[in-house]
Amino acid sequence: MIPLVKPYIPDSHVLMPELEKILYSGYIAEGQPVYDFEDKFKDYIGNPYLLALHSGTDALHLSFILAGIKPGDEVISTPMTAEPTNTSIAMVGGKVVWGDVNPNNGLLNPESVRSLITERTKAIVLVHYAGMVCDMDAFNQISEEYNIPIIEDAAHALGSKYGGRMVGCNSPYTIFSLQAIKHMTTVDGGFLCVKSEEDLNRARRLRWFGLDKKRSRLENDITEVGYKYSMNNVNATIGLVQMRYVNEIVGKYIDNGKFYDNVLGRVDGVTMVDYSPNTEASYWLYTMRVERREEFMRMMESEGIMASPLHHRSDTHSIFKESQRELPNMDKWYDSFVHIPCGWWVSAEERERIVEVIKKGW
Ligand SMILES: *Cc1c(COP(=O)(O)O)cnc(C)c1O
Repeated sequence: MIPLVKPYIPDSHVLMPELEKILYSGYIAEGQPVYDFEDKFKDYIGNPYLLALHSGTDALHLSFILAGIKPGDEVISTPMTAEPTNTSIAMVGGKVVWGDVNPNNGLLNPESVRSLITERTKAIVLVHYAGMVCDMDAFNQISEEYNIPIIEDAAHALGSKYGGRMVGCNSPYTIFSLQAIKHMTTVDGGFLCVKSEEDLNRARRLRWFGLDKKRSRLENDITEVGYKYSMNNVNATIGLVQMRYVNEIVGKYIDNGKFYDNVLGRVDGVTMVDYSPNTEASYWLYTMRVERREEFMRMMESEGIMASPLHHRSDTHSIFKESQRELPNMDKWYDSFVHIPCGWWVSAEERERIVEVIKKGW
């Protein structure tokens, strides 16, 4: 079966000597390899203000703290995402307000968001679902007009671009995940990208109990509760090796995605998604809409090709009961979209075969 997701782990003859060195080095907690990994990631993204963390969820939690979200504040978000996007709003006591999506791509709809803004709205969370980038032109305008910060959940969007620049250097807060199934993995890990030295320094203390790592434990005074969100040297060593391949690996997702964009649009029963203006997707999953989805998925499975939705919509969970509202476009989208394999493991022959199978109909 060709899977929808699969971790990329560099060859053992390259990775293992590095891992062995760090494991027996006597220093496996947060140290130089973490800072080296951060430097490499800064170069890749083009943003000098970022921190490596233990997970993307940690990065989301810190984003909401830095954005000043307090109990009762409203945060406009999307149900079309993985659970941590919204559970981390609840972690700081924020109230999730569900925006509706664009029925042609499942991304948050700027007009829906605009209609939901009140004086209690303190942040807007944009999820670049499956590597498709939200309509940043429209959202930046809304953010400026109402003076509300944007938090970009780019867990699916490593290598995606807006205005020719990498996602991760545009908004006050952007998070990436290095969890097992994302474009690049360190087994677990995450990055928080910010836009100022001040936010960076505060986040650095928050990732380590509220302590300043540059001072000794005896000279340290905790002035704000922090967490244990640091990355360790073992995960960072995997990350440093991954960075040698990141362009090539992300490039394969994008190449496969563009291949499907070029050929699947002419196939009966398939509807292409709309990409937002000024953006370039990194195709973590290839996303499209199909008629008779159940039959489509069954036909693909019988051909040894995984095809399905991935995340469950987040607005049905009991903890978000009070946020429930009608989302007609989300309903429409949620019943019709599907993903097909498009990552680094899908070869040129396999993607040709996938297209041929779809063309035969279902
Ligand atoms: C994976 C993921 C996260 C969280 O990342 P972890 O590193 O697993 O904590 C957040 N948001 C989205 C959309 C994700 O897919």
